Amino acid sequence: MPAPVTPKPVAHLIEGPNFTPGRVNWDADVEVHKLSNNESPIGSSPAAVEAIREHASSLYIYGDADGLPLAMAIAERFELDPARIIVGPGSEQLINWIIQGWADRGDEVLYPEHAFQSYRIRARMCGAVPVAAPETGLRADIQSLLDAVTPRTKVLVIANPNNPTGTHIPLAEVKALREALRPDVLLVVDEAYFEYVNAADYGSAMPLVTAGGENVIVTRTFSKFYGLAGLRAGWAHVPSSLAAPLSRVRGPYPVSSLAMAGAAAALTDFEFQKRAKAHNDKWLPWLVSEVEKLGYETSRSEANFVLFRIPGGAEAAQALEDALTEKGFIGRTAHQNALPNWIRFSVGTERAMTGLVEELKAYRGQ
Ligand SMILES: *Cc1c(COP(=O)(O)O)cnc(C)c1O
Repeated sequence: MPAPVTPKPVAHLIEGPNFTPGRVNWDADVEVHKLSNNESPIGSSPAAVEAIREHASSLYIYGDADGLPLAMAIAERFELDPARIIVGPGSEQLINWIIQGWADRGDEVLYPEHAFQSYRIRARMCGAVPVAAPETGLRADIQSLLDAVTPRTKVLVIANPNNPTGTHIPLAEVKALREALRPDVLLVVDEAYFEYVNAADYGSAMPLVTAGGENVIVTRTFSKFYGLAGLRAGWAHVPSSLAAPLSRVRGPYPVSSLAMAGAAAALTDFEFQKRAKAHNDKWLPWLVSEVEKLGYETSRSEANFVLFRIPGGAEAAQALEDALTEKGFIGRTAHQNALPNWIRFSVGTERAMTGLVEELKAYRGQ
């Protein structure tokens, strides 16, 4: 019998790897600590939750088609021009729209070797060619990125700091990269973990956009620091000339009115933000130092997670992930980021952190 004829999806949309979300194991009969998605260990901003409740009775009305109420709140909080803020259901989707809008079939999307998996996946889904530039010491290397630029390069994406490594590049290097880059290549700086960074040489690339750079976009998210991952809200600060084309790719009503209300309220919930920062400032260095005491090499994370190398290689890393999942501590190996022998755990609650370290000690036989 001949194979039945079926409607065929567009090949580049379904070929290649798909996004692998962090593992969830809610059926376990142990207490589960999900440390695989870099979610907030202190819950959501209470002001956001309150605003969402209040908004629930007006859901029969369409929100603003451009997401203006949220763009205005962001502009006010960060002293930016609201006309240059594009909001979306998470920054992952914003990056997808940027790639869709600026990289045509066969064009190249460039990123550092151990970048967030979405860049590669979204590039491929847009029919573009993903190109990874080698890193040096688990850090984006601007010279290596510049060397990888070809006439077909249209978009260059870096996360600063990066996920899963947590490493950052100094603002001076971001500026140098931008200056050396061909002006028709769009530089996207993904600042999903901006709020956590303490390094003195770190700085947001936001001023590069404000200063009139026509080829830089900065993205931010409400998912991590503000504890609103399930709400789906993120934003991009874009050059004036790119605002109109990006809103076209985006389409109308990109963010639900609930998400707009919640995200806007979280922006000025300074009490929650202080707690989120204090929690990470305490538990990130603690976790790094405990993991290092056990003899593991860690990357220099400035974000809300730790990444460490498993000496036995990829199989040993997977075995450790499986063993700790059994115990209720869910992390993930970085195999999607060309680091299969490294494992990442998010900063969690005090109970999750002390419990995780106890289990790691037991696993190492110490
Ligand atoms: C978590 C994360 C995002 C944010 O995704 P949302 O779609 O906003 O939830 C973006 N970039 C990186 C590098 C991340 O780790």
